[in-house]
Amino acid sequence: MTCRNCGASFQGSFCSNCGTAVSAPTQPSNAWSNQSPQSASAGSTYSTAAMVLGAIAVFLVPILFGGAGIVLAVIAKNKGEKNANVALTVAILCTIAGIIFGAAVGASTYSN
Ligand SMILES: [Zn+2]
Repeated sequence: MTCRNCGASFQGSFCSNCGTAVSAPTQPSNAWSNQSPQSASAGSTYSTAAMVLGAIAVFLVPILFGGAGIVLAVIAKNKGEKNANVALTVAILCTIAGIIFGAAVGASTYSN
């Protein structure tokens, strides 16, 4: 161990030179590394992807794309993304809209 206070080398929990207690050097760096990646990853990657899939779901296979969008929105929620709730709402609404849209197109196709 090297004393953080006086720089002396020693063994044990206290510096033999000045008596400073050893504070585990991994503790502050752990708290730091725990904080920064989380705040960095709290972006909107999954939320954005969920909303894009929702937009696709309105026109294409709503069960597939809408379902994927909802799953991504739930992942975004678990990751604490800011727009997760919005993305989830958009994904669900787009899925419903896609199903209604698809049903309307299907009905008009059948009526011909
Ligand atoms: Zn010391």
